[in-house]
Amino acid sequence: MATQTAIQIPGFRGELVSPDDREYDGTRAVWNGMVDRRPRLIARCAGTADVAAAVRFARERELEVAVRGGGHNVSGTAICDGGMVIDLSVMRAVWVDPVECTALVQGGALWGDVDHATQAYGLATTGGIVSHTGVGGLTLGGGIGWLMRKHGLAVDNLVEAEVVTAEGMILRASADEHPDLFWALRGGGGNFGVVTSFRFALHPVGPTVLAGPVFWAAEDTTEVLRFYRELVAGAPDELGSIVRLGTIPSLPVVDKDLHFRPAIGVATCYAGPVEDGERVVGALRRFGTPLVDLLGPTRYVDHQSGIDDTVPHGWHYYWKATDLAGLSDEIIDIVAEHAYQAASTRSYAAMFHFGGAVAQTPRKATAYSGRDVEHNIIIDAAWLPEQDETVGAAEIAWARGFLEALQPHGAGVYVNFLDSDDDTSRVHEAYGDDTYRRLAEIKAKYDPENVFHNNKNIRPGTP
Ligand code: FAD
Repeated sequence: MATQTAIQIPGFRGELVSPDDREYDGTRAVWNGMVDRRPRLIARCAGTADVAAAVRFARERELEVAVRGGGHNVSGTAICDGGMVIDLSVMRAVWVDPVECTALVQGGALWGDVDHATQAYGLATTGGIVSHTGVGGLTLGGGIGWLMRKHGLAVDNLVEAEVVTAEGMILRASADEHPDLFWALRGGGGNFGVVTSFRFALHPVGPTVLAGPVFWAAEDTTEVLRFYRELVAGAPDELGSIVRLGTIPSLPVVDKDLHFRPAIGVATCYAGPVEDGERVVGALRRFGTPLVDLLGPTRYVDHQSGIDDTVPHGWHYYWKATDLAGLSDEIIDIVAEHAYQAASTRSYAAMFHFGGAVAQTPRKATAYSGRDVEHNIIIDAAWLPEQDETVGAAEIAWARGFLEALQPHGAGVYVNFLDSDDDTSRVHEAYGDDTYRRLAEIKAKYDPENVFHNNKNIRPGTP
């Protein structure tokens, strides 16, 4: 328990943590160990009523506000300097309705919580590929994952949300109630209020799926990517795939001799019968000379947490990203040239394959704006906190140089992959003119004073 903090919030039953409390440093830490912000107060909310009380209190006192879901945003917007963090991290309950095939998920839940609860019924929804990522931030930016080509983005599965507005009002947003807010929440990020619960549509998945990575030596990158491009172009929507370029992670399932060896990995998850998956991805494991083949029938929940340890809390991270309209030979050459130039063995780049249900959903149905994207790439510079500052500087330079080389082929960017200061100007790029304008109008209606601005900010605008 926190020690008794001097500040009290009327009607608040959760825990208040302030700089004098023992828990303060642990509570203000986020996934990216580079983030070091010191809020005046952290309001660990126990439920919706606490969130409403905290928002009203912050407004009355004119406090800076940040909202924390899973704390995974690389830019650390979950925490502010001074002011108050509305911390949802104890609000992690998930209730599954197996008859209606929906899950009601509290705003601070992690994807591991959702997968654990839904897979008990053989159900799942599209979520993040690392189980310790928050449902809140990931969903509000769009939500890409293994199942998106078959079942759509996280936002495509969102049925309704409970929202505490900047006024401290509790609203329900759905296709029937506050449809403008509901549209904006599906891609517009944390700009429109604090989402205290999400209701998602669920689908039968697993419990066993054909999934896992196959790795080849870095020298094979061009051939592997050309082969991969053909494989996924004609693949059924059940096939989710991600390419990882960097080193082979030091996971217990990998032979120690291969740990940190430069390599390209193609990881897949087939959201259908395992036998069908074998027919679709079998060619992958027969291509060239794989160094490691971990593709096989696996429990969906295990697959969803399989790479958790490759991106732990507390390391230092810096990201660059861009969407790619296609995977031309020229892009493949750029990727092969830059991917292995990072000095840190923890740094890597990852490419998600889109299409399927993501592309089949009408462009204006939600605020998420990347439906024409075929692939994207995230350049994830990662190093250890104890490493010298020059290591970090070199990794940051690598990520920037890699992006710069790709930029002529860029086709937008996923808002949830934007990093901090030098990416601020790219928020508009993430949405495009029309969607940004509409989001700005809805922002003006629900948060005209931009209370919720510690995020990938949409400024309130007029029609
Ligand atoms: P937080 O840092 O807690 O929140 C980020 C922002 O979201 C906050 O500043 C706030 O504005 C807003 N927010 C969060 N929760 C709420 C809420 N309940 N109500 C209102 N606003 C809220 N993205 C994908 O799409 N797919 C992936 O597979 C994926 N994998 C990832 C893996 C790792 C290891 C990491 C670090 C990130 C990954 N991401 C992925 C990116 C991820 O979507 C973003 O980092 C996202 O912001 C994380 O959400 P969070 O709740 O954990 O973050």
